[in-house]
Order: sequence, then structure tokens, then C-alpha cells
Amino acid sequence: MPVTAVSRTKPNILITGTPGTGKSSLCKQLAEKTGYEWLEVSKLAKDWECISDYDEEYDTSVLDEDKLLDTMEPIMANGGKIVDYHGCDFFPERWFNIVFVLRTDNTILYDRLSERGYTGKKLSDNVECEIFQTLLEEAKSSYDEDIVHELQSSTLAEAASNLERIVSWTDQWTKDNTS
Ligand code: ADP
Ligand code: MN
Repeated sequence: MPVTAVSRTKPNILITGTPGTGKSSLCKQLAEKTGYEWLEVSKLAKDWECISDYDEEYDTSVLDEDKLLDTMEPIMANGGKIVDYHGCDFFPERWFNIVFVLRTDNTILYDRLSERGYTGKKLSDNVECEIFQTLLEEAKSSYDEDIVHELQSSTLAEAASNLERIVSWTDQWTKDNTS
């Protein structure tokens, strides 16, 4: 039987959203609570030499998607992975049991990204990406809408509730899928 979303013993979770919405903070805590492995794709792509180019205009790395997917495929097969990336349309749909899209109030996001040192076009492009809910639309068009969930991530209270919600989801998944 091929390894599919239904045959793995632990689920794979995708956490996506505009840069600054809180993916890494959430994934780190989620990994600690669940024992699942956090795959921070933008960092791992560098370690795995899966960067094909550097975009001067956007001041950002361009992924070698084919090489990245080949590298990730055997890792994803075992389940129990939390994938963190500000994009999701190039991952195989079958990798994920559930997809969460983090959302942040525009002015709060502007402040977070400024604090991170983003300025000019890089700052305005990322805030615009959130205003136009680009990642939510990308997730909905790339995965079954039933498994795509939008999570507000503007406040620390929301961050705590998101963590709790995903942990309970994994507990329930484990109960339903193992005997
Ligand atoms: P991403 O990985 O999506 O780029 P980070 O997890 O690095 O985002 O978060 C960006 C900044 O915002 C960090 O300083 C983090 O502590 C803060 N932050 C993230 N989520 C929240 C939240 N829900 N409420 C308040 N601050 C947050
Ligand atoms: Mn991050």
C-alpha cells in the first residue's frame, strides 16, 4: 500500500501564513508539546542546499522546489512532522492531514515586521500579502477545504488557544487512527 495521508501512524501538520504571523513561535511550542518534529523549511532549505537563487528585488531566497521535495519526501513518509513555511502550493497534497493558516491584524503585522528589520518593498509586500489573504487562498486552492483552518494570531491569548487547539486535534487524531 502506498504511504498516504490515511496510512501513517502520526499525522503531518502544515502551518502556513504570511511572514510574521507567528508560525515559528507556534511550531516550536507545538513540537515541544507533541514530540513531533518541526521542519522550518526556510532554514532547512539552506542546510540542504535547496536554494536556487536570490531575488534582489524582493530580498528573499528562491527555493529549488524539486530538490527540496525530493529531500523532504522520505522524512514526511513517517508522519509526525510539523511543516512551517510561508507558501504551500508546491507541497504534495497527500503529505498533510491538516493545514493551519495563521492570520494577523495588518497594523500588528506591520509592527512585527518592522521590528524584524523589514523596510520598503519587502515590508509593504508582506503586509499586502496578509491584506489580500494570499496564503489562505493558496491553502484553500491547494488542499481539500475541509482540512484548511484559519487561525487568528494577533495576540498572545490567541497564540495560546491555537496551541491548545492543535494539540487536542493531534490527541484526537491519534485516538481515532490507532488501536
Ligand atoms: P513567522 O515564523 O510566521 O515569521 P514568528 O513566529 O517568527 O513568525 O513571529 C514573529 C514575531 O511575532 C515574534 O517576535 C513573535 O514572538 C511574535 N508573535 C508571534 N505570534 C504572536 C501572537 N499570536 N501574539 C503576539 N506576538 C506574536
Ligand atoms: Mn518563521
